[in-house]
Amino acid sequence: MSANYLETMIKRDEIDRYYQNGRDFIDDDAIRAEIADNAKPDKARIRDILQKSLAIETLQGPDVAALLSVEDPELLAEMADVAWKVKHKVYDNRVVTFAPMYISSYCINRCRYCGFSADNSRGLRRCLTQEEIKAEAEAMIRLGHKRVMAVYGEHPMTGADFISKSLETIYSAKVPGRHEGAVNCVRRINVNAAPMSVDDLKKVHEAGIGTFQVFQETYDHKAYAAMHPADTVKGDMGWRLTCMHRAFDAGIDDVGLGVLFGLQPDWKFDVAAMCVHARELERYSGIGPHTFSVPRMHAASGSEVANAKSNFTDDDFFRAVLVLRLSVPYTGLIVTARESKELRDRCVRIGLTQMDAGTRIDIGGYAAGNKDQKIDEQQFLLGDNRSLEQMIVDLAKQGIITSFCTAGYRCGRTGGCIMDALKTGREGTFCKINAVLTYREWLDDFASPESIRACEPVIEAELAAIKEMYPKFYPVVMERYNRICAGERDLYF
Ligand code: SAM
Ligand code: SF4
Repeated sequence: MSANYLETMIKRDEIDRYYQNGRDFIDDDAIRAEIADNAKPDKARIRDILQKSLAIETLQGPDVAALLSVEDPELLAEMADVAWKVKHKVYDNRVVTFAPMYISSYCINRCRYCGFSADNSRGLRRCLTQEEIKAEAEAMIRLGHKRVMAVYGEHPMTGADFISKSLETIYSAKVPGRHEGAVNCVRRINVNAAPMSVDDLKKVHEAGIGTFQVFQETYDHKAYAAMHPADTVKGDMGWRLTCMHRAFDAGIDDVGLGVLFGLQPDWKFDVAAMCVHARELERYSGIGPHTFSVPRMHAASGSEVANAKSNFTDDDFFRAVLVLRLSVPYTGLIVTARESKELRDRCVRIGLTQMDAGTRIDIGGYAAGNKDQKIDEQQFLLGDNRSLEQMIVDLAKQGIITSFCTAGYRCGRTGGCIMDALKTGREGTFCKINAVLTYREWLDDFASPESIRACEPVIEAELAAIKEMYPKFYPVVMERYNRICAGERDLYF
């Protein structure tokens, strides 16, 4: 990639302005020292820390490090118990579902672990046209999806203008529903794309982006440099580290962080560093990340790194999720279909808040009705291939309600407003009620009679809980619930 091209893509002043004393906010040595200094906490200290998590306080570095060091199964079980309580307090008994829409596999970067790397000559390249994006959105709507994560490689073809246009196209897709006159559509689009400049982020903001997600991959400067060649845009770690600061400056107050576990051996470092990032965003804008994602590296076309066996185990994964849940208690936690059903189920019980389902990551895969995975046609391989309906029923059997709620974003409950609501547990009330309303809609519009029967007890339990917890509000909830049963759609609080 030419030096000129890098200069046009990366706005140096839009990195430097967020540095303090000429440095980015990740001090590798300090984070490692903190982990070493807190390696042997006693039980009483861990229990004190858990009280802070229960009070929905963001933990400081030494406390995060102490939680990371816990190996004792009994103490881990206590942490898991508190993580579940924290999740309930903030987000209630629901798991929000979404599905990714992979729009383009063209990429100028050469990340060593990714099937879309420009170095991979085996992969089939494709970028959906606006017509194909609409067809893909319609196919997803027919499967029952209401929340889409639009995913793009980094390429001049898929810059901010293209991303904004594709959001408009997805929002414009409409599919008739089961009830007379009912229309289904996508109600929220989150975006996972490369870092952008403030001006470009303003365009995407105006097009109606939900959460803007960029995964840091790793916060370890040396490991980052080893995975991302220096002559690529992504090779500039500062451009990536500061992208959420730019998002806030562009008016996007809903952002998602993530690390790619398995990329470097020290997973504890990346958990601690992602918490540093969250605290840095709180410092900068008063608003922390809306979500943490915990992708783990999986086999990918043409990638020796991704196809090598990683030493990052399922138990490590579980502990990473547990510590994140407790360390930044207000934040949503996404565990994607990269992981197996069994591991995702374990994570549900410690406070995962979002899961994708019925996932296709081949470009145009929903509209084509593809069923099998083909390694050369997708970024990596998935571990959980359940349909959306199957996942909803499986969660129902565990007493958990699946939510399609998009109300917070559409009612302006984002940014500082949502942070306060989450920290005080107020958002949990909306979550609970909107989960029931959107679940009822989904069951009536998409589920088989058998699935409806399996899910009905969850609705009954949730409505009974709402009646008990909010007796004065219950009649208003029931009024909307009954309107939905009669065929009205998109009612929320
Ligand atoms: N191209 C953009 C970027 O890199 O920021 C965004 C989209 S990229 C398609 C989404 C994420 O997929 C990356 O941030 C990375 O964490 C993840 N990913 C890449 N290769 C992977 C692999 N082999 N297994 C699992 N996840 C992978
Ligand atoms: Fe491109 Fe993103 Fe893949 Fe890197 S991870 S090669 S930037 S699509």
